Amino acid sequence: MDATVQRHQTLRVRHELRRRLLTVATIERLTPHMLRIGFTSPELHDFVSPSHDDHIKLFFPTDDAPAMRDFTPRRFDTGQQTLLIDFALHEAGPATQWAAAAKVGDTLQIGGPRGSSVVPDDFDWYLLIGDETALPAIGRRVEELRPGVPVATFVIGGEDKTVITRASWTPHWIARQAAFGDAEMLQAALASYPFPAGEGFVWIAAEATVARHLRSYVTERGHPREWTKAAGYWKRGVADAHEKIED
Ligand SMILES: Cc1cc2nc3c(=O)[nH]c(=O)nc-3n(C[C@H](O)[C@H](O)[C@H](O)COP(=O)(O)OP(=O)(O)OC[C@H]3O[C@@H](n4cnc5c(N)ncnc54)[C@H](O)[C@@H]3O)c2cc1C
Repeated sequence: MDATVQRHQTLRVRHELRRRLLTVATIERLTPHMLRIGFTSPELHDFVSPSHDDHIKLFFPTDDAPAMRDFTPRRFDTGQQTLLIDFALHEAGPATQWAAAAKVGDTLQIGGPRGSSVVPDDFDWYLLIGDETALPAIGRRVEELRPGVPVATFVIGGEDKTVITRASWTPHWIARQAAFGDAEMLQAALASYPFPAGEGFVWIAAEATVARHLRSYVTERGHPREWTKAAGYWKRGVADAHEKIED
C-alpha cells in the first residue's frame, strides 16, 4: 500500500452515548471573556475523548426543554474524575448566561462525546487556526502533540496562557480590531506564515463564514484539501449552529 495513505489515516470511533451529571468545582477567568470551569463527578471515571476536537453536549435548563450546546472537553482526568470546559462569553445565549452566573456547587448535565475523528499525530507539521470558541480544541491539540513537532497556532479573540507542551509551538495571538473582521485579520496574519516543508495538517474552526473563507485561503495557497479540516463552531445570528465545512 502507498506509504502516504497508510501514514495519515483518520480513525473514526463511535462511543456509547452517556449522560453524566457534573458539579462545578472551580471557576477561573482565563481572559476577560473566557471562563474555565472545572467539573467533578464520579460519573467521569469512564469518560472518553480521544480527539482534541471532540464535542460534548451541555444541557442548560430553560423554561421549556433544556437548551443543548456543543463544547470541547478541554482537559479531563478519569482518575481524579475531573473535566475542564472553557466558555467563551459573548452577548447572549443559554450557555453564556449559565457560565457567567455559575457558582461552585452548581450542577450541569452533559452527553457524549458520541464519536471521535482522530487525526493521527504523524504529520510533519501542524497549523491550527481559530477564534476563542476553537481555542479549547487548539490548546488541547498543542498539549497532546508529540515532542518537537512544529505547530503554529493563529487565534483571534482569545488567549490561553496555561498551555503546556513539548511540541515546538509558535503561538500567534491576534487581538480583534473593530474595523476588521476575523477572516480578514486571520488571513493577514497567515500571509506572512510560510507553510513548512513536508506534509502538514491544517485545522480551522471559527464562525462559519470565517472558517469557510480560511479553508479556501489555505487550499488556494496549495495545501491539500484532504489534509485540511474546517468547521463552523458557531454562526452569526443563529443559535446552536455547527457546520462541517467542505468544498
Ligand atoms: C464542535 C464544537 C465545539 C465547541 N467548543 C466550544 C468550547 O469549548 N467553548 C466555547 O466557548 N464554545 C465552543 N463552541 C461554540 C459554542 O457551541 C457556540 O458558541 C454556542 O452557540 C454557544 O451557545 P450560547 O447558548 O452561548 O449561544 P446561542 O444561543 O447558541 O447563540 C445566541 C447568539 O449568540 C451568537 N453567538 C454564539 N456563539 C458566539 C460567540 N462565540 N461569539 C459571538 N456570538 C456568538 C449566535 O450567533 C446567536 O446569535 C463549540 C462549537 C462546536 C460546534
